[in-house]
Amino acid sequence: MSYISDVLEQLNKNNPNEPEFIQATTEVLESIAPVVDANPRFQDWALLERLVEPERVNIFRIPWVDDAGKTHVNRAYRVQFNSAIGPYKGGIRFHPSVNLSIIKFLGFEQTFKNSLTGLPMGGGKGGCDFDPKGKSDTEIMRFCQSFMTSLYRIIGPRVDVPAGDIGVGAREVGYMYGQYKRITGVYEGVLTGKGLSYGGSLARTEATGYGLIYLTQEMLNDHNDSIEGKTIVVSGSGNVATYAIEKATQLGGKCVTASDSSGYVYDPDGIDLDVLKDVKQVRRARINEYVNARPNAKFHAGKRVWEVPCDIALPCATQNELDVNDAKELVKNGCKVVAEGANMPSTLEATKVFLENKLLFAPGKAANAGGVATSGLEMTQNTQGLSWSFEEVDTKLCGIMKNIYGNMADAAKEYNAKDNFVVGANAAGFLKVADAMMAQGII
Ligand code: NDP
Repeated sequence: MSYISDVLEQLNKNNPNEPEFIQATTEVLESIAPVVDANPRFQDWALLERLVEPERVNIFRIPWVDDAGKTHVNRAYRVQFNSAIGPYKGGIRFHPSVNLSIIKFLGFEQTFKNSLTGLPMGGGKGGCDFDPKGKSDTEIMRFCQSFMTSLYRIIGPRVDVPAGDIGVGAREVGYMYGQYKRITGVYEGVLTGKGLSYGGSLARTEATGYGLIYLTQEMLNDHNDSIEGKTIVVSGSGNVATYAIEKATQLGGKCVTASDSSGYVYDPDGIDLDVLKDVKQVRRARINEYVNARPNAKFHAGKRVWEVPCDIALPCATQNELDVNDAKELVKNGCKVVAEGANMPSTLEATKVFLENKLLFAPGKAANAGGVATSGLEMTQNTQGLSWSFEEVDTKLCGIMKNIYGNMADAAKEYNAKDNFVVGANAAGFLKVADAMMAQGII
């Protein structure tokens, strides 16, 4: 049996109740076989065994009191996955579905994503099974303060730098930052995604969605095509989806859908961003309210966007939101490009369908790396005590996304898998981490 299948077999035995983590590790390990085969020392030094085991897993309780005086307890995680190339870096997710498997898969993916950005950041991820929906602002604040009261002991600007993710945006980062400062008495860049008035970076809010579109445009340009005139289907209506729609529209694409967990809206005239932002960012309402202001738009309750014919599909909501049947339907309806704004939104079987049908498929760890890359730029600005202009950050972001595309395309060619960007992104991300781990010895 090969080294990779041995490691995967043991991984399945060790983590029987962690399907998302097994899915993410299987995808990476199977795709880097040619790189591993070419380096026998990896096996001698148990590199893959170490790569799939987090350096540290923290699990802690979050007690908090709601507005009615009732006490609640949630379970929180911070997985410090890999620090070979820099301090742990990765977001915090608040969603009722959060569990150890999900946080471990996200931390594992983050390790390769951060490596792809070219910046010195290791991989980590955190979260809590807290549901922010329907909570008052003061409940959110008390929850965030309690969360940080436990988290502050294990993070720091040179140790572990969290950021936002699903359910954690500027408001939550602000409350957490305030509590960190209050407890430690230190004003330092311990979180990214901060507000502009206290050390945040311009363009961080837009970065993941904009970055997704910069990489998609670069991939299309490399194939003598562009976003202009394309019909685009987008899932989600949060941070990533909103700014992906904004940039794609600026580049001449027409985004016709947005969704949340209640269903999706189809707008034949193209999603109106002012209306979407009002519904989602200002009023924090459900997506069906979008159609009140857009008479031509229709709401489809409980449905997924993938049934809508398109040229380009951008999954920007959550993991495993696009399965094998969705993938087949997209292909049947003529979709030619899929770029993942969310983390692992396509199942392993869906990804296979895209690759077999020769779609241009950009996996999340490359396509959505613009957010963490710009967090890296925020860390640099904090260290230097500077704040760069929007244009400066946006230009750097665009350059980083073009580089990521170039590196994954080159790696795909080098391993005889031209245009297979799953192989390309995994191989390129892996090599730097592997090199650093080997250089630092068996630790
Ligand atoms: P937000 O919380 O801003 O938005 C999440 C969106 O996805 C909402 O529309 C939400 O709908 C929907 N969603 C979440 N969970 C589910 C679910 N189980 N079923 C259906 N819809 C769901 O999060 P982000 O936009 O920040 O994150 C979206 C994705 O992008 C995630 O996979 C995240 O890990 C990834 N990502 C985010 C980055 C960032 O910078 N923010 C960076 C890189 C990746 P509802 O409100 O109904 O739950």
